[in-house]
Amino acid sequence: MRNIWQNGLGVFQSGPYICCKTIREMDTASITKNNAEFKEVLFERLNNFFKESGRSKKANWEMTLKVTLALVWWIGSLALLYILKLNYWQFLLLYIFQGLGQIFMFLNIAHDANHSSISKKRLVNKSLSYVLDACGISSYMWRVMHNQGHHSVMNVYGEDEGIIAHGIFRFSPHAPWKKMHRFQHIYVFFLYGIASLDFVFVKDLEYLLLKNNKHVHDVKIPLSEYITIIGSKILYLFYMIVLPTVLLGFPLWKVILAFLVTHFIMGLAASWIIQTAHLLEINQFPKTKDEHDFIDHIFATTTDYSTRSRIANVICGGLNHHVIHHIYPHVAHTHYPKLTKIVKETAKEFGIEYRENRTMYGAMVHHLRLLKQLGNPA
Ligand SMILES: [Zn+2]
Repeated sequence: MRNIWQNGLGVFQSGPYICCKTIREMDTASITKNNAEFKEVLFERLNNFFKESGRSKKANWEMTLKVTLALVWWIGSLALLYILKLNYWQFLLLYIFQGLGQIFMFLNIAHDANHSSISKKRLVNKSLSYVLDACGISSYMWRVMHNQGHHSVMNVYGEDEGIIAHGIFRFSPHAPWKKMHRFQHIYVFFLYGIASLDFVFVKDLEYLLLKNNKHVHDVKIPLSEYITIIGSKILYLFYMIVLPTVLLGFPLWKVILAFLVTHFIMGLAASWIIQTAHLLEINQFPKTKDEHDFIDHIFATTTDYSTRSRIANVICGGLNHHVIHHIYPHVAHTHYPKLTKIVKETAKEFGIEYRENRTMYGAMVHHLRLLKQLGNPA
């Protein structure tokens, strides 16, 4: 009997991940019944978690603290660049630290705000979503491409924005193969370093001006968004490159070098945190989103990692709790550790497969295995 989610590359192997007992032994009728009951009970328990404790699904004290610290980190380090009298190497270190603040804001504020999960008030979410624009990436385009172009179509080639890589990487068995992909498990360590620059200089503008993606093709983008997107990118380059050159007197090429080094580190950090939940050889790559219902699709295409690590929970903005993020994207990510526990326990009780890599390293190994497999098609 095939596992209900087993297909494509989702062939389960022994590896540094854990999963609950599968339902390979059951007959089809009991699988369907068990699966339907599982979803009903899961949602009941998740909703009861908030109802019985009287907790809000939006920001708790932890989330509020994170938002505050992130803003202090980023604005404070930017201000210190001008307050302190620094030599170039000290400037470079503080500039990188400020860049890490941008990534922390992106993962811990912008992602939640653009899912409207920080507050019930639209104005609060909308205002906080602009931290993404302040980092040179369009929050408007993110809402279109991430909320619609990823959250309903994970790992579906041609639909999921998360697996678009300009042909440089082959992230899906349904994507065309190129000779260069043989080395993608090696050059990933360098080219993930340009991921944030890709958003700042290429992807947003491509979607805005060429509309070369199905999720944005028919969207009527308001003129105000054209102005905001292009204006925020100019502003970003102004305070990241022009201002330090003019006010601090460092040569332009040295400031551009600091900008590129910082983005290289930002790109690597963000890519490894984001890519290691869906793009693993133990996950499935459905041809269409209609192969499963929505919850089955989440479990088939998503693997959590490091859910018990306090450090990962602080840094990753809940992306290590990726299963619950797709079930409840409108809930603040600081609730995820407790909700993931409910998901794990319920899945185990119903014999439903839930996968988790115990560590980030384990998740990275599975990501590299996928890249290696897809780079060498049989
Ligand atoms: Zn999301």
